[in-house]
Amino acid sequence: MSAAVLLEVSDLRKHFPVRKGIFGRAAGKVHAVDGISFSIHAGETLGLVGESGCGKSTAGKTILRLIEPTGGTIEWRGRRIDGLDRAGMRPFRQELQAVFQDPYSSLNPRMRAADIVAEPIRNYQNASGAEIAERVAYLFSKVGLRADQLVKYPYEFSGGQRQRLGIARALAVQPKLIVCDEPVSALDVSVQAQVINLLEDLQAEFGVSYLFVAHDLAVVEHISHRVAVMYLGKIVELTDRRSLFRNPQHPYTEALLSAVPLPDPKAKKKRIILAGDVPSPITPPPGCRFHTRCPYVEERCRNEEPLMKQVQPGHHVACHLR
Ligand code: SF4
Repeated sequence: MSAAVLLEVSDLRKHFPVRKGIFGRAAGKVHAVDGISFSIHAGETLGLVGESGCGKSTAGKTILRLIEPTGGTIEWRGRRIDGLDRAGMRPFRQELQAVFQDPYSSLNPRMRAADIVAEPIRNYQNASGAEIAERVAYLFSKVGLRADQLVKYPYEFSGGQRQRLGIARALAVQPKLIVCDEPVSALDVSVQAQVINLLEDLQAEFGVSYLFVAHDLAVVEHISHRVAVMYLGKIVELTDRRSLFRNPQHPYTEALLSAVPLPDPKAKKKRIILAGDVPSPITPPPGCRFHTRCPYVEERCRNEEPLMKQVQPGHHVACHLR
């Protein structure tokens, strides 16, 4: 991709302390995000996928600086933002927006829909009341909401409509990147497709980039240009959508893909059932973190961490077998 790099994340880490006892004694740390690196270009969607608890949502929140990184760097359009305090982040807030899984809890239930969308414009932009009202009405039409819904409260919307409202709010201040954190996971399958199509249409029209966090590879396939697969705090494979779905290189990606239903109901593929549970992120396994469940595990996998390497142009994988 030749478009400008917007976001450059290098060796990003987020560890949460684990405290025990009435005195809150430190008893280890959760390695939620443990050294991930990737970039996002202008107009691009990067899918970030993995099972629940792999650290993908924490990565999204850390990039937005909603939680503090433990280490590594976050560069936004060439400027380091990982060390900025609240005031230092303010100029970047309108460029970096978010859409969350549960719009009901992320939208103020006491505000009317028009005010929910107008709020970030009032906070970040110098605009008159008439200009704001005009922009809010425009955004409503762009996300497929009706003008008569401007005065309604979040509880009066369906789940899909609430997510459209959340998207209108995120778009209100003309962001360059929206972190979409499981934005369709709580919706019915038919509504999921509508919201995904809406996000794609808005990207085509406004050129916005997305970091699309999801546990469902089938959802990510539709919207992503590239996909990063996360396992236990690490990215294990990163490549373009086509390569990932046609030619997965990491055993974990292979297993995830084997669970994705095929469009042709008569077509058959072998489902790979992984042994055991995901290990605790408090005590991740040494060597390759996937070795406790990998069907191809070798002796060195147990003590030697595989580094990310490029196996084909633009296709990166962390596995000793590649
Ligand atoms: Fe499996 Fe070893 Fe590759 Fe890890 S490094 S994914 S354990 S083969």
